[in-house]
Amino acid sequence: MQETKYIIPSELKSAAIGKCPRCRKGDMFVGPLLSFSSKKMRSSCPYCSLKFEKEPGYFYVAMYVSYVFVVAELVTACVGTYIITHNMESPWLYLTVAVLATIILAPFNYRYSRIVLMYWLTPAFKYRPERYADVKEGGGAA
Ligand SMILES: [Zn+2]
Repeated sequence: MQETKYIIPSELKSAAIGKCPRCRKGDMFVGPLLSFSSKKMRSSCPYCSLKFEKEPGYFYVAMYVSYVFVVAELVTACVGTYIITHNMESPWLYLTVAVLATIILAPFNYRYSRIVLMYWLTPAFKYRPERYADVKEGGGAA
């Protein structure tokens, strides 16, 4: 049996930095992960050419993941606001916090809903170590 000479990146770390779910090498997004300016996503992985949108409308499912994120964030933001201010009179404070949290976290929700969908909700995009090995051997030592 051949010895493994490369370190396989962990699933959580690869997901956190937006790498392709199959090879964990190629970037899923064009711009930086939390940028407001560029939210462009690559159509396929630059390393293993995995097509990210596996079928038409695939990313609509990410809306449900995003919905879960937003609800969790809004509850956290509003409970946090209550703990800090003890405000029981004005609904405007909570409304302002909720709107701000939604806007500020939008890039995070957009990208990580897709990442969660591709990493943990799509069995077809399972990690294939041999893809990572191919890349490593093709690019160096041999
Ligand atoms: Zn890939």
